[in-house]
Amino acid sequence: MRPIIVFSDFDGTITQQDTGNIIIDKCIGTEKRIRLDDSILDGRRSFRDANNEMWASVNLETFGEAIALLKENKVSHDVEFGRFHSILTRLNIPLKVVSAGLKPIVTLYMESFGNCEIYANDCSIERTADGSVSWKLKYVDESPFGHDKGAPIRLLKEQFKAAGLSEEERPRILFIGDGVSDLSAARDADFVFAKKGKDLETYCQREGISGVIIWEDFGAICDWLEKWAAAV
Ligand SMILES: [Mg+2]
Repeated sequence: MRPIIVFSDFDGTITQQDTGNIIIDKCIGTEKRIRLDDSILDGRRSFRDANNEMWASVNLETFGEAIALLKENKVSHDVEFGRFHSILTRLNIPLKVVSAGLKPIVTLYMESFGNCEIYANDCSIERTADGSVSWKLKYVDESPFGHDKGAPIRLLKEQFKAAGLSEEERPRILFIGDGVSDLSAARDADFVFAKKGKDLETYCQREGISGVIIWEDFGAICDWLEKWAAAV
């Protein structure tokens, strides 16, 4: 089988719900969170600025408390994610999760799955002088989402090149996503799986990214991987 490496978004892709929205809504209410989201979409505020404000309002004392809240809200993995992960393990395909969300949350949520590396913004829970709790983000880089999801893909390609592998010889890179922050990774991957009816599908069409495969659940990606393994 020709080697392949899988990169995947987390919120709305591996999970069916957005974990950040659930945590933030619990602390500031859905209405205020949507107002802040709208201010990003219509360009009145930068992603970082509004995102910092949302997370600073989160007053949960531990990441474990946030995970308990997500479980209460029945946040679940995609229905076929378990099968997908077993295929990756069986075929020895590495999984790299790239998220504009929070590394401690993604790490805890992916704990039961091995063979997984996580690239995401970090976060610390800080206590202010008056004793109140606030979540503070530490971004991976200076890009608009604080984390350019294409960067680890480009770095990997450079490493293959440095190791003497040509573009044709190096392992193929597959990316799975659904949202606006996934566009940079979609540009750098060899195969892109964009979730049906979500922003990434629209953006890929608008940007003229070719070879995009539309998916509704991970079952479609499982089938594609099985064919890949059988064919090459
Ligand atoms: Mg997403």
